Amino acid sequence: MDARDAMGAGERTTCCVVGGGPAGMVLALLLARAGVRVTVLEKHGDFLRDFRGDTVHPTTLALLDELGLGERFARLPQRRVTTIQLPLGPDRSLVTVGNIAALRRRYNYIAMVPQWDLLDLLADEAGREPAFSLRMNTEATSFLVERGRVTGVSYRTSDGRTGELRATLTVACDGRGSLARSLPDLELRTFRCPMDAWWFRLPRHEGDPHGLVGGVGDRFLSAMIDRGDYWQCAALIPKGSDARLRADGLDQFREAYGAAVAWVADRMHTLASWDEVKLLDVRLDRLRRWYRPGLLCIGDAAHAMSPVFGIGINLAVQDAVAAARHLVGPLSDGAAGLPAAVRRVQRRRWPTTALTQGLQRFAHSHVIEPLLLGRPPLGDPKRAKRVTELVTTSRWVNRVPAYFLAYGALRERPPAASVRRPGTS
Ligand SMILES: Cc1cc2nc3c(=O)[nH]c(=O)nc-3n(C[C@H](O)[C@H](O)[C@H](O)COP(=O)(O)OP(=O)(O)OC[C@H]3O[C@@H](n4cnc5c(N)ncnc54)[C@H](O)[C@@H]3O)c2cc1C
Repeated sequence: MDARDAMGAGERTTCCVVGGGPAGMVLALLLARAGVRVTVLEKHGDFLRDFRGDTVHPTTLALLDELGLGERFARLPQRRVTTIQLPLGPDRSLVTVGNIAALRRRYNYIAMVPQWDLLDLLADEAGREPAFSLRMNTEATSFLVERGRVTGVSYRTSDGRTGELRATLTVACDGRGSLARSLPDLELRTFRCPMDAWWFRLPRHEGDPHGLVGGVGDRFLSAMIDRGDYWQCAALIPKGSDARLRADGLDQFREAYGAAVAWVADRMHTLASWDEVKLLDVRLDRLRRWYRPGLLCIGDAAHAMSPVFGIGINLAVQDAVAAARHLVGPLSDGAAGLPAAVRRVQRRRWPTTALTQGLQRFAHSHVIEPLLLGRPPLGDPKRAKRVTELVTTSRWVNRVPAYFLAYGALRERPPAASVRRPGTS
């Protein structure tokens, strides 16, 4: 008997979720709680990956509460971010353009929690449901297609075994490199991105600031995420400039970063080689259609998000909540109405996605690109000054970006069957 037969023959689930990121794990938890049989395939052996954002927004905090997980989440080590700052001031100084703390809401902060802690919590919670199954180290390698309909996936495990998993519905939650993007009828629309990101770590010292800290250097922007005993650092660099900047030498980068973020200059020497600086290709795109028979795409698989404003995770989570609400009925009911339900998910989530990506595109071309090219943001210094004055002096104008960033354009409600009171999960 070959390995394929041993692993795969006759395997079946109701919903196959490809990818255990924020979209996949939230969708799987909500469906499993509502009694829908769901199997998540995650290609990695754990959730530890540095490049994943750490931001947990008020909408996700409120969702965790509704799911009875608020107290467990609150026990995770975390830091709070309450302001949004952009380098619009004189000499590229940071200006507070949104104060989330001023919102009269229960959750008026963004929690900074390593994403693996959040995913572990969701996986642990979903693991209590008999309808849930999580297969780590299992990569979906292609879709099974029968008479034009996706009927599941072929997969390969990290020890080389292969198999097939059939499902009533397959949901692609496998991020911006999604398998679904190879399908001919899900056309991809891409938007220009002016930057890529370098990721690296620096030690954190007593007396350092907390939370999320931004900075502006000569031809790069920095963001630093406080991870307790170290800083996860990002430097946004002009798109396609990785090889050229590396050729300039590590010393030059250490010096430039230390000049932009003066309080870390004393530890830039700990960055020992370019191997410690990882390049992340930043992309912004979306599928024109998020579904085809038997398949739905959500999160970055449907719309890859730029790191700007740190809102991709929240959008992916809200996609998952909306998908669960529309899919629970048809998936519990022998798939009646499933084609209409997947269409409704895209119809519901497309406007907020397009708006959010539109704002990211505006920030790319009017703030980030000029700064990376050494030009003033927003076209000219006078306009930047007027905008800065408006957002810093008007309480109401200041609240709009704060609200949008914290709550997004549209908040989704989970299916009633997935909701739990605290302590009853
Ligand atoms: C440099 C950078 C920084 C960012 N920082 C932030 C931030 O601070 N805050 C924020 O909100 N957003 C941030 N984003 C955006 C954010 O990362 C994404 O929008 C978000 O992670 C999307 O979640 P997802 O669940 O859709 O996909 P992902 O988080 O990409 O998860 C996809 C999962 O699928 C798995 N997978 C992939 N292919 C397969 C396969 N074939 N089989 C099985 N498993 C598979 C992957 O291992 C992964 O676990 C950033 C993006 C970039 C590029």
